[in-house]
Amino acid sequence: MFLVERDTPGLTVGPALGKMGLRTSPLSELTFEGMRVPAAHLVGPAGAGLMVLDHVMKREILFSFSITLGEMEHRLARCVEYARTRRQFGRSIGEFQSVSHRIADMRIAVDTSRKWLHDTAEKVLAGKDTTLDVAATKTVVSEANSATALAALQIFGGNGYLTGTGVEQDVRNALAGTVYSGTSEIQRNRIAAVLGL
Ligand SMILES: Cc1cc2nc3c(=O)[nH]c(=O)nc-3n(C[C@H](O)[C@H](O)[C@H](O)COP(=O)(O)OP(=O)(O)OC[C@H]3O[C@@H](n4cnc5c(N)ncnc54)[C@H](O)[C@@H]3O)c2cc1C
Repeated sequence: MFLVERDTPGLTVGPALGKMGLRTSPLSELTFEGMRVPAAHLVGPAGAGLMVLDHVMKREILFSFSITLGEMEHRLARCVEYARTRRQFGRSIGEFQSVSHRIADMRIAVDTSRKWLHDTAEKVLAGKDTTLDVAATKTVVSEANSATALAALQIFGGNGYLTGTGVEQDVRNALAGTVYSGTSEIQRNRIAAVLGL
């Protein structure tokens, strides 16, 4: 693993790529061509790049999906408030069991995500082997995020589909989580590998 300075000859940063969501976080391709990096820019021992990456990715996943947990808590609070105040057919929509159960499932998803994040973080701090735990945490939280974002869209009805409420933007942002930092499929591959499959 090498540290590459931004102005190193041979490093090209491509134009920002258009994407579905997360538009305040620019994404582009990096090209490395005929580039020379000083030996002093080696990070960790030579040949240990994968271990350094593994160390970093575990923390990236825990930190970035802790932010996701906060987003899910905010989304849940918005849905509870909306279900209490939006009235249809002479009552609040939260009085319809199909709506309230959807919100109950959101609460379970949020709490499950928090428990996985905290439990895995404690194991990482204790220096335990967390390959399976981090993969499971990433899968649980990212999939809970997508599911609860879609649930919120349904609860907000037509208002959720309008750009002004932020609910559709929330869906577009949430859907990236099962792709970046290792897709759900790759996380399940890792869990299966730990199980000897
Ligand atoms: C918002 C965003 C931010 C990103 N940020 C970064 C970043 O900072 N740095 C960086 O390096 N990359 C970043 N990426 C890239 C991201 O890591 C990749 O998109 C992701 O790892 C999937 O790789 P891919 O797009 O090549 O898909 P592919 O590898 O082509 O996969 C396509 C599909 O096939 C499945 N698949 C592929 N291989 C297997 C397999 N062996 N077993 C089972 N299923 C498989 C995948 O799970 C997926 O469903 C980012 C992507 C997004 C969307």
